[in-house]
Amino acid sequence: MMDAAHEPAARGAHAMPTACWSCRGAVAAGAPFCATCKAVQPPGGADHFARLGLARGFDLDTAELDRRYFALQRQLHPDRFVSKSGRERAIAQSQAASLNDAYETLSDPLSRAVYLLKLDGIAVEREDGATISDPELLMEAMEMRESLAEAMDAAAVDAVAARMERERRTTVERIAAAFRGGDADAAHKATLRLKYLVRLDDDIRARRAAMRARTAKGGP
Ligand SMILES: [Zn+2]
Repeated sequence: MMDAAHEPAARGAHAMPTACWSCRGAVAAGAPFCATCKAVQPPGGADHFARLGLARGFDLDTAELDRRYFALQRQLHPDRFVSKSGRERAIAQSQAASLNDAYETLSDPLSRAVYLLKLDGIAVEREDGATISDPELLMEAMEMRESLAEAMDAAAVDAVAARMERERRTTVERIAAAFRGGDADAAHKATLRLKYLVRLDDDIRARRAAMRARTAKGGP
């Protein structure tokens, strides 16, 4: 019920079976091997979820994701294709590259959310966090930067980092709830917030490095 508006079109686009290049038998979209002749198949246009045989959604079982990824990676290992034709080796290689791309995208909550929004036709990647249009997030961002700038010792930076980590977890939960409820706008808003928090993490690391450098020089 939740995805009634866009689900049918999306499903139609990625459930189309293709023909095996080797035996011409039907191959389900995203399937890396032909069920009939076992030949490796080109990656095609399947989405990252279909490629890993997972249901499309933000909530995913990361243990299951790992299990599927490593099993497929083993099946696509170049050692298994040494006696095959050049064509088959090339197909296995591009299938493995697509699989890595899918795994990298889905294993990280931020890139998974950005990807799901992209499938919904919402582009997040252009908003780099430097320009924040959401006034609520802008206020929060300024306040967080201020508390980091005011943190004068390692303990104070740790306190800011701990708060960021809590915020990050809450935001991931918020994204999950928004996707579960089929609310793309709320998911987009929360994803921009997560993007900002991940960037702030880099600032915290830089701040810690600067403090260590100062201590090493014997400064205050
Ligand atoms: Zn086949």
